[in-house]
Amino acid sequence: MNKRILALVVLLIGLVCLCVQDFSKPAESAVQGILAPEAVLGFKPGDDRKLASWNQVVEYFDRLDRASDRVMFQTLGKSTMDKPFVMATISAPENLARLDEFKMIQEQLADPRKLGTGAARDRRAAELIRRGKTIVLITCGIHSTEVGSYLSSMLIAHRLASSNEPEIQNLLQNTIILLVPSLNPDGVDIVKNWYDKTLGTPYEGTDPPELYHKYTGHDNNRDWYAFTQVETQITVDKIHNVWHPQIVHDIHQQGAMGSRLFLPPYMQPVEPNVPKQIVEGYTELGNWMAREMRAKGFQGITTNSTYDAWSPSRAYSHYHGGVRILSETASAKIATPITLKFDQLTSREGYNPQKESANFGPLWRGGEWKLRDITNYMTTAAFLLLRHASENREQWLRRFYEIGTDAVRPRKNGEVTAYFLPVSKDGSKTVRRLRLATILARAGLDLKLSDLKGNGIDPSALAVSRPLDTPFQIAIPLDQPYASFARAILEPLRYPDLRDASGHPVPPYDVTAHSLPLLMDVEVITVRKPSRFRDATAALPMVFQGRSFAPARVALYKASQPTMDRGWTQWLLERNPETKQVALLTDESIRRHSSIAGFDAVVIPDQASRTILNGYRAGAMPPELTGGLGQEGIKALREYVESGGTVVFLNRASDFAIEQFKLPIKNVVAGLSRTEFYVPGSILRIELDTTHPLAQSMPKQSIAWAEESPAFEIIENGAANQYSVPASAVKVVAWYPPASDPLLSGWLLGGNRIKGKAALLEVKMGKGRLVLFGFRPQYRAQSLATYPLFFNALRGSS
Ligand SMILES: [Zn+2]
Repeated sequence: MNKRILALVVLLIGLVCLCVQDFSKPAESAVQGILAPEAVLGFKPGDDRKLASWNQVVEYFDRLDRASDRVMFQTLGKSTMDKPFVMATISAPENLARLDEFKMIQEQLADPRKLGTGAARDRRAAELIRRGKTIVLITCGIHSTEVGSYLSSMLIAHRLASSNEPEIQNLLQNTIILLVPSLNPDGVDIVKNWYDKTLGTPYEGTDPPELYHKYTGHDNNRDWYAFTQVETQITVDKIHNVWHPQIVHDIHQQGAMGSRLFLPPYMQPVEPNVPKQIVEGYTELGNWMAREMRAKGFQGITTNSTYDAWSPSRAYSHYHGGVRILSETASAKIATPITLKFDQLTSREGYNPQKESANFGPLWRGGEWKLRDITNYMTTAAFLLLRHASENREQWLRRFYEIGTDAVRPRKNGEVTAYFLPVSKDGSKTVRRLRLATILARAGLDLKLSDLKGNGIDPSALAVSRPLDTPFQIAIPLDQPYASFARAILEPLRYPDLRDASGHPVPPYDVTAHSLPLLMDVEVITVRKPSRFRDATAALPMVFQGRSFAPARVALYKASQPTMDRGWTQWLLERNPETKQVALLTDESIRRHSSIAGFDAVVIPDQASRTILNGYRAGAMPPELTGGLGQEGIKALREYVESGGTVVFLNRASDFAIEQFKLPIKNVVAGLSRTEFYVPGSILRIELDTTHPLAQSMPKQSIAWAEESPAFEIIENGAANQYSVPASAVKVVAWYPPASDPLLSGWLLGGNRIKGKAALLEVKMGKGRLVLFGFRPQYRAQSLATYPLFFNALRGSS
């Protein structure tokens, strides 16, 4: 067939399809020809027991783009597992035609240095504020079992594209909406496939037995200052840093048993470098949304509870001029309804769902809770947020400009003016320093490079392939827009000692420390007077270069019950060019012994001891997934070690080794209450025996990332028949200093209990060995300082 005729036929078929799909009479206020999601999915998002595949989501947005002049849909990159990472830009057609102009306005308001100084600067800014739009980024689906938000993204887009209501018209005029249907496209299908597979079985509505992001699982929103994953990089490079949104609406789900909805303000603590205007902004907007939702009859809403604003890992925008409006709607069982009784509802930090209070109410009395409830809460909240963004457009832009002007103001005497990363003689330190510098550059900071005499270096002189040959110094001046980000990740903050009314520590929402110089062992000097570095450079080349380690064939234990530490470990091992082979071993394959024989080392990631032993409890999951390593697996590991193998246990997995291999070792903090000992993700100080092969190339003092971690004591005088090896088979390689406070950054209670106790042990057994880490040496791909310990452990018996 002639190509033109073919095109004509395709066009005609398309028109017929459009007519068929739009046969139902559209509402009078609706735009003609805009498909509803059900036309593509075959169901309405939010219907019980129905999930969309990622292909369907992409197809829906694609068709919306073609049909609507309010929607521009684009692929920004590829996810970890090669799926399209997409975003829809939604606004009035006349705004979409001028996107470059609005980007430029954002750029200048974000960095007021570009507008000159003094009154002239404020005049130019006022003009930009008059013309600019509120930029709202809506991010959905980073946690893939929280299915309501990626489904809601289609409902939100459809209404924005199809409605002619005055309210929608207004917000299209006044805002530019950047809608990301999922920050984790891979997880959409991982969850849907598992859900569909188990539909109608006793396992319907369970979480999938694998990480819903290949490497990070639920930790994928703990990566927003280290930027290790491609999804984080795309979001930062191609959305945040291009658009500098004033409002980021991050739509999540929480457990089923607490409030129906959380909205900001966040509870304490707020990380001290978050600008005060950001705190004002999320407080005002969150409280307003909660008030409006209550007025519409929504129940069970809490603010100022459960979720804190401590870690920059979940709040990139807080350091880049934008408020983060986290919403957390109560979950069902994936897409399956649940029924809750009122007296089943349980308290969380800061409220009791059975009692009205200043930050909770009105009561939700229990009953059925389903996906449609979830999408109703989510879409209502999102449109309220957009209304506020639209009606208060100038105020949002003025606040954004004010954050920028505060950031770039000249520093007064005595204030910190810059950070300085000096040249180190240690080559490996230089690589780590460069890694830290690339993180700062990626976060939008201008770095000044100079040679050892203080002369500026042209960035093009930095050969990416030979960074070690270029002795340059790095300064980070603080009178620049995103300096608060640098302050947050470069200063070793202590977490406040927060207690509830009965004196118990209030747990942090995530962890308590994020000091990258400590985690990466990079020297940082704080400069308190103007620096002499010349304006030489802009961006650094983005490089990642690891140390060079001896090649190893590594078997990584993949428990049936997924653990994020396994994912991060796999990510690190796969990126270490000196690792020859990384294999994932299931419970089943370890029990079969022969499968581990050829490896230099087996790694058992951080996981509770009983979970490693037993896996899912019987009945909770299909039988082939239950049972854990079991006694067969332990026997196989013991034989592997006795014939010369190495098994490396990370953090809590060390308890498993002590119990199951009958080692003459005591975890001195086991069983203690939180008031007696508590280390909820903190950076501690350790000392090392650098003559031991495990500590090769380490300094005498280093750090340990401790998180629910054990601390060890060797049992010297135990009854010989009680243990499988004598005390003399156990060597202490690292310990907490006996005389000083172990805490470097974060929060530690009962630190005296671990003073002088061991943090890293080697246990000889037969021809092989066990290595017990009492911390996470490869924590979330951030603790570069202790990577050498981890990689040394993989090298086979010393
Ligand atoms: Zn979540």
